[in-house]
Amino acid sequence: MAKPTHVKYLIIGAGIHGLSTAWGLAEKLKSKGEIVEGNIAVLDKTGIAAGASGVACGVVRNNYYQPAMRKLMAHSVDIWESDPEGLHYHPVGYMQISSESMRTDIVRIFEEQQSIGYESKFIEGAEKSNRYMLEFFSDWQAQGITSVLHEKKGGYSNQTKTMYALAKKVEALGVRIITGIEVKGFSTNNSSEAISSVDTNKGKITCDHVVVAAGPWVRDFWDFLELPKKINVKDAEGYIHKNVDMWRYWQLEEGVLRVKPEVLLTNNGEIPPVLHVDTEAPLKSDVDGSIITDEMWGIYYKPDWHFNGIQGGAAPYKVSTPVDQVSVDPYGPASPEFISSNDFAHMWVSALAHCHKRFEGSMPQYHRNPSGGIGCFTPDSFPIFDHFYENVTIIADSNHGWKMIGVGHLIADEILGETQELLEPFRFARYQKGESHPVSSSPYPWS
Ligand SMILES: Cc1cc2nc3c(=O)[nH]c(=O)nc-3n(C[C@H](O)[C@H](O)[C@H](O)COP(=O)(O)OP(=O)(O)OC[C@H]3O[C@@H](n4cnc5c(N)ncnc54)[C@H](O)[C@@H]3O)c2cc1C
Repeated sequence: MAKPTHVKYLIIGAGIHGLSTAWGLAEKLKSKGEIVEGNIAVLDKTGIAAGASGVACGVVRNNYYQPAMRKLMAHSVDIWESDPEGLHYHPVGYMQISSESMRTDIVRIFEEQQSIGYESKFIEGAEKSNRYMLEFFSDWQAQGITSVLHEKKGGYSNQTKTMYALAKKVEALGVRIITGIEVKGFSTNNSSEAISSVDTNKGKITCDHVVVAAGPWVRDFWDFLELPKKINVKDAEGYIHKNVDMWRYWQLEEGVLRVKPEVLLTNNGEIPPVLHVDTEAPLKSDVDGSIITDEMWGIYYKPDWHFNGIQGGAAPYKVSTPVDQVSVDPYGPASPEFISSNDFAHMWVSALAHCHKRFEGSMPQYHRNPSGGIGCFTPDSFPIFDHFYENVTIIADSNHGWKMIGVGHLIADEILGETQELLEPFRFARYQKGESHPVSSSPYPWS
């Protein structure tokens, strides 16, 4: 099919944000009696779900220390719940199972979840937490746990299935998805700062509005737009950190234990909530009994019929390569550099065995296929959802974003002229204003 020469709303990236923005825009145009066909296109250099959205674990949770993140996640959970079957979403809930150093933060999260009406249960104290977990799993044996936050909403979805369902949904609304077309830069007219066309390997496409939803490739688009590579960041105490790299990469380590997913059903034979455990209890190797770490560690996992096993991950690590030199392509499991390591496999399976007796001795069942991927993070590791120049919107989710299926709808409202309160805490100017999000005591850069 020929490439269009002009599209009113041009979206770059057929990941979760590009497609959900297209979804939101198409629905809104339709509701105003406007034509979608020919007016909204999504471009992708590779294909649908070729980026982070195609490798995401798929976890949907609300457990965030930052109030603005919790409100935004509650909005996204509503969208997931609007069509669970169609979006391949499993509303099994989510559990944050933590040791003492995280308890105060989790109490606060629980209290604020109550105040926004997000249903959850909080169990406090070592004995009560242990008893609660034993009600779900008779072989529960994790050490050092003193609280459990059980979110009754949330769960997980099956990334590629969801992505193809979203693509179908937007195409049915009249959106065109064009794959195999790479954006190389932007052009402006001399008279204004607005982007007049998107320059691709197949020629220029003029447009009225551009949405950049390029996931881990956002660094390159930031450069195309000549936005600053280094910025000053004012912290909550008013101290200004000068010349901070605008972007940094983290490697997400995830994998699959190739056992029947049913192995992790609850005592009642039900699918359990997604489980996330953080503890300071020493982690012993399930292979040779050596101590893997005596510092804080954490894992998350779920039985997953899409991955065909127990799927999950652990805390990511910072990519040490200078940000300009990080090779994002080939992405995910195809990367020769950024895939889950053998150390991860050893740690994660040992941690599963630390939590459940049923996983003792299961290291041989760990899959040996490449997995994981990198994420592009902002200076405070929280998203930037903002508008630049006169007609460019950037969705840079700082790798929080599979669960944020609602962001595209909010962005669509903003593009059509209605500022969204839920997006206000995620503007780029927050670094200059000293309005960064509060930092939790979780070992993850995204909690
Ligand atoms: C291993 C892993 C596990 C994760 N697990 C979870 C999870 O459980 N829950 C959660 O909420 N989040 C999770 N995330 C984060 C989540 O996957 C991402 O935040 C989200 O998918 C990003 O979506 P996106 O639409 O911004 O980008 P992407 O899905 O990366 O899509 C960007 C698209 O842009 C295209 N593109 C790039 N450059 C160009 C160009 N020049 N021209 C045209 N097209 C271009 C790419 O081909 C790609 O398809 C995980 C991430 C990783 C890596």
